[in-house]
Amino acid sequence: MKSRTTRTTGKRRATRAKPLGEYQRKRDFTKTREPEGSAARKKSARALRFVVQKHAASHLHFDFRLELDGVMKSWAVPKGPSYDPTVRRLAMEVEDHPIEYNTFEGTIPKGEYGGGTVMVWDRGTYEAEDGGGAASLRAGYERGDLKIVMHGKRLVGGWVLVRMRRDESDRAQWLLIKHRDETADATFDIVADETTSVATGRTMDEIGSRARRVWTSNRTPRKAAAQSTKKRAARKKPAAKR
Ligand code: MN
Repeated sequence: MKSRTTRTTGKRRATRAKPLGEYQRKRDFTKTREPEGSAARKKSARALRFVVQKHAASHLHFDFRLELDGVMKSWAVPKGPSYDPTVRRLAMEVEDHPIEYNTFEGTIPKGEYGGGTVMVWDRGTYEAEDGGGAASLRAGYERGDLKIVMHGKRLVGGWVLVRMRRDESDRAQWLLIKHRDETADATFDIVADETTSVATGRTMDEIGSRARRVWTSNRTPRKAAAQSTKKRAARKKPAAKR
């Protein structure tokens, strides 16, 4: 057996001390409409939320986020979830996200961190499989064996996240696996079947084209409006580079 080598490092402890620090460091909130976020206070009585966002960044993936201790624990799942219990889907752990991120649907500008279209693909609540609440979830997350029951529109029933290893950047790789329960179904390809937003019913193209029109068009026909917007922006901060 391998000896237990690395205990919690100072670095990791520092990360834990400032919730959402990495999330905020990676983003320029003057350029992206994603929420800046702050860690929410504990409300232990309320059901914990989850969201799965389909994200067409440089590589299409599904962001799987579970509420725990005032933030959304987050994993990027390149192929998305599968209802087939024999399928193990790679889930790369990413930085904790703010709870407000759950409602974010739109486009992150090109060139910004995670640039591309984001869709709210599923959402709902979830709980520890053993009924042990947040304490059980916290223990499962730390142990790298997180057994959950999901109550979403598209994702329902038991699932497990199993931690495999950390990569060079100290990022953990996990596997997302469907439990063998009454909701398992090896013939159902939910990622192929469900291609619209559960929040707005829009497709990725519809979300993307609306975002281009509203936020990043530099050829608006309404020159006067554009110029007054520019003047307002100029008063607030130095002119942006063209
Ligand atoms: Mn993402």
